[in-house]
Amino acid sequence: MIPGPIEFEQEVLNAMATPTPSHVDPNFIQTFSNCLQQLKQVCQTKNGQAFIVAGTGTFAMDMAAANLTKQGDKVLVISTGYFGLRYAEILKRYGAQVDILESEIGEIVPLETIEEQLKNNDYKLLTFTHVDTSTGVLNNAKAIGELGIQYNVCTILDGVCSVAGEEIQQDAWGIDVVLTASQKAIGVPPGLALLTVSEKAMAIFNQRESPVANYYADWSNWLPIMKAYENLQPSYFGTPPVNLIIALEKSLEIILNEGLQQRFTRHKENAKQIREALKNAGLTMIPKREEICANTLSAPYYPEGKDASILKTIKEQGVILAGGLLPELKSKYFRIGHMGSTQQAEVDKVIAAIEFALNH
Ligand code: PMP
Repeated sequence: MIPGPIEFEQEVLNAMATPTPSHVDPNFIQTFSNCLQQLKQVCQTKNGQAFIVAGTGTFAMDMAAANLTKQGDKVLVISTGYFGLRYAEILKRYGAQVDILESEIGEIVPLETIEEQLKNNDYKLLTFTHVDTSTGVLNNAKAIGELGIQYNVCTILDGVCSVAGEEIQQDAWGIDVVLTASQKAIGVPPGLALLTVSEKAMAIFNQRESPVANYYADWSNWLPIMKAYENLQPSYFGTPPVNLIIALEKSLEIILNEGLQQRFTRHKENAKQIREALKNAGLTMIPKREEICANTLSAPYYPEGKDASILKTIKEQGVILAGGLLPELKSKYFRIGHMGSTQQAEVDKVIAAIEFALNH
């Protein structure tokens, strides 16, 4: 139960073990097409353009940055921890002028602060981390999306730790890019970068005059491939990770069969039970308020007198948890992933293992 890679469904792993077909095999073309369609359903976008490309979550961030920024563009990064700062670094590589609004640890950047910044500047893009995996803080994606519409800024949501675990209504909330990776709530082993891009963001891309400064990430190369798969036509730019995409179809099918609302509710209920148990055991969470606690992972401080050695005891109980990630607090807290297929039995087991470790 680490915050990614998560434990995968056996059916997904079985799908992945299929003998590898050609990337232009008609059945595989159908699978790819289904994945593009299902990904849009998970992100709740009708007219968005889906991209499925070999790469990690960082590549998904890079792809959005490479295609939507050019030298001198003004970009606002809302940072709630480790991955916000990573986005700023990526954007700078493409010559963007990056301003960072950084939250205090365990908090979000207040919406009024974001609005003030948007009012006083002319930004092309705004990026934010939906769930910051380093702190367990959940941003208000709906409200940030609305600010993006109001101030005509293209919004990029890093959903690596949220898509398919936290609710995202891309169209209704006006989010221009939702990006994620396969290994968390999407439920597929690492290796896929997944994006859904609004018509507004695709128009910005289509209007650019300078070439995209990253050959592999360039949508000019990938858009025809995605369109071809959507239209059930063979195509090639870079060999797709065929087995991961076969596994993705299975996982997206499991997600959609569960039902998005049911899935989000299950994540909320599991997270709430874990937080309550931690609170009862005397632990404090990094997120300072209940409303900004993520439902995909929890990040508690070690209690007085305990340290990372409890993770070893917890592991002896059969549960693998993760240590801290935020450099300044690394040794002071740990992280519990509870996304994807996590069921009541696992919630009970992780709570029992933590309680055992705290008492030994
Ligand atoms: N953003 C967030 C919120 C993440 O949690 C991660 C991975 N933990 C990334 C981006 C980067 O993803 P990857 O490790 O797949 O490159």
